[in-house]
Amino acid sequence: MSKLKVSELFYSIQGEGRYMGVPSVFLRTFGCNFKCDGFGLPKGEMSVERFNVQPEKYNNYKELPLVKSGCDSYASWDPRFKDLSPVIDSDGIVSSIMDILPHNRWMDEHLVITGGEPLLGWQRSFPDLLNNYQMKSLKEITFETNGTQELTSEFRDYLVEWKRNREKNALTFSVSPKLSISGESWDEAIRPSIIHQYQDVGFVYLKFVVSTEEDVLEAEKAVEEYKAGGFTGPVYLMPCGGVESVYELNAKNVALAAMKRGWRYSDRLQVPLFKNEWGT
Ligand code: SF4
Repeated sequence: MSKLKVSELFYSIQGEGRYMGVPSVFLRTFGCNFKCDGFGLPKGEMSVERFNVQPEKYNNYKELPLVKSGCDSYASWDPRFKDLSPVIDSDGIVSSIMDILPHNRWMDEHLVITGGEPLLGWQRSFPDLLNNYQMKSLKEITFETNGTQELTSEFRDYLVEWKRNREKNALTFSVSPKLSISGESWDEAIRPSIIHQYQDVGFVYLKFVVSTEEDVLEAEKAVEEYKAGGFTGPVYLMPCGGVESVYELNAKNVALAAMKRGWRYSDRLQVPLFKNEWGT
């Protein structure tokens, strides 16, 4: 039976993107190929906030402090925190999902597989999870990805089969490419050929986290590259910041920038609703 290293498993309202407002189970896998230490800081500066968190002081993921800069889910990939993410077999994960669903089975809820970066090596473990008989009535899945990981041919074939008896848009890839504000390099982060691959099996949209006009211009440049590579889906702009104070400063301007380009605006509903706490 396949196993996953699980950072978080919780039930909440999806706060971002296409499924904003939809009750969703979030499965957060451990591990990421990026660090995104630049978020929330002037360009060129890197956050050291996560280094100030001492892992030995915490027994539980939920007790960890939130950070105002850098990746807001740092504990889902920083190896210093790896012991807070248990390895669980697929039956154990399904059993926990049934426990947190309000009717102890799938109704209209949606599954979000997120990270970290969920499309790293975990691709080989998802089929066992999704094949469990209690997962058969699941209607919709979103993979929240940074858009840098190719699908293996086995997983691609599996997803095609999974979709066969479901609605056309049952499978979504919410791709959040990292602009230079993240601290990651353009060549590593903007990978149009990979998005093209996702588009072959599911509905794909791009979601850019921005806080300045310069970020928006970069997003424009990235969208041109994605379109040149065959991308045809919608584009969202979302304000930077995992805490309310930062979020309120830039939300309106981000919405205006999206409107100007005919793009969509994504809120971060988990911030005003739940203050972006762990498990939301
Ligand atoms: S890609 Fe996402 S999970 Fe990975 S470091 Fe960046 S923000 Fe965090």
